[in-house]
Amino acid sequence: MDIALSDELRTFQGQVRDFLNASLTPDIREAARLSTTILAEHGATQEWHKIMFRQGWAAPSWPTEFGGPGWDPMQRYLFAAEYARAGAPRLSPLGLGMVGPAIKGHGSEAQKAFYLPRILSGEDVWCQGYSEPGSGSDLASLQCRAVPAGDDYIVNGSKTWTTNAHHASHMFCLVRTDTTGKPQAGITFLLLEMDSPGIRVAPIHILGGDHEFNQVFFDDVRVPRENRVGAENDGWTVAKYLLEFERGGSAHAAALRAGLAGVRQMAQRRRNSDGQSLLAEHGFAHDLSALEIELTTVEFTEHRIMADIAKRGRPGPASSMLKTRSTEVQQAVSELAMQAIAYYGAPHQPQERLPGANLEAIGQRDEMSVTARYLNDRAASIYGGSNEIQRNIMAKMVLGL
Ligand SMILES: Cc1cc2nc3c(=O)[nH]c(=O)nc-3n(C[C@H](O)[C@H](O)[C@H](O)COP(=O)(O)OP(=O)(O)OC[C@H]3O[C@@H](n4cnc5c(N)ncnc54)[C@H](O)[C@@H]3O)c2cc1C
Repeated sequence: MDIALSDELRTFQGQVRDFLNASLTPDIREAARLSTTILAEHGATQEWHKIMFRQGWAAPSWPTEFGGPGWDPMQRYLFAAEYARAGAPRLSPLGLGMVGPAIKGHGSEAQKAFYLPRILSGEDVWCQGYSEPGSGSDLASLQCRAVPAGDDYIVNGSKTWTTNAHHASHMFCLVRTDTTGKPQAGITFLLLEMDSPGIRVAPIHILGGDHEFNQVFFDDVRVPRENRVGAENDGWTVAKYLLEFERGGSAHAAALRAGLAGVRQMAQRRRNSDGQSLLAEHGFAHDLSALEIELTTVEFTEHRIMADIAKRGRPGPASSMLKTRSTEVQQAVSELAMQAIAYYGAPHQPQERLPGANLEAIGQRDEMSVTARYLNDRAASIYGGSNEIQRNIMAKMVLGL
């Protein structure tokens, strides 16, 4: 897309580019480059979060009253594009992009004053306790129970697939507080501290070898009632509001474009026996161009949603469209990367991939994470609500079927 930038925007773009280039240390860049899940190594991500916070850029879409930079949609877009181009690690969206907006939209004044500054600074690290064994797509069937007891709730049950629970200081959580009516009408939204007595975090290792998520067990865990967001039994309203941000609130196209540029580089240096670059092969070049077009459609959808957020403060049901299309393109990008690296996708090199490792790797360093990332990207059409469920939402809420 050709965007004619005003002088002010060009200056802004230059300032962002200069800052990122000057502030990204080699270790942080390396952690981002070698990451195989949506989040880079935790220590490097936290270090980068602090740097972004000091600069006032940790939460580009937050309003200034809560510490955001006050950028308009075009500035946010340019920032996201520069951020992806620089290869900066993604800050965890669980606080800044999910529970932060939920507290802003539905929290009490005391909750806003206490939690938002800590989310912004990265002092608190969040995880999301929605899914349970047996309650994923059918989230409203969740069983984790909270019973009022004096000034507290007492929570018993379990949550699963909890990304980052092993690093988190806090969890936002859906619990059942009523079993009598419609399932959706008996759910409450709680904020809890992960070091509360009675919480146990058990790791789950995924196909690519990463430890990204966990199962979390609650055994008589006391959570103060003042940690409830919204009314008792009205947690479903808060949960749905938050999911709109999870599915549509962040910039995807810029990161996808950076990923595709990486594929182009890998294909450029891969040669067949005649010395011809893979990039020049008709089939590969066709797939690359087709994907570039798909990516541009994601970019336009993203712009539309950003305009909606600017107008109405929330992404709305069209965020399901963005979630579906962007994850499909994300998976296609990692499939093409696998084609580009060919046999170099076969060696399993988890130790060589660790930040700071001095083991000699097989193949180029930037190709070492391609297979693990490809495997991890299969999850993209499942997390945040599977793409089948997103299509159901679009059918109902967007098409009115
Ligand atoms: C990498 C990763 C990270 C995650 N992180 C978190 C996290 O931090 N916190 C959290 O709470 N959860 C997390 N999840 C869980 C995620 O939200 C669920 O996996 C997802 O909602 C699907 O639920 P499920 O796994 O129980 O599958 P199921 O609901 O059992 O679905 C199985 C299959 O059936 C299809 N299906 C189900 N119902 C329908 C329907 N009505 N119409 C059409 N098709 C249907 C689904 O699309 C899917 O293909 C994560 C998942 C992954 C993979």
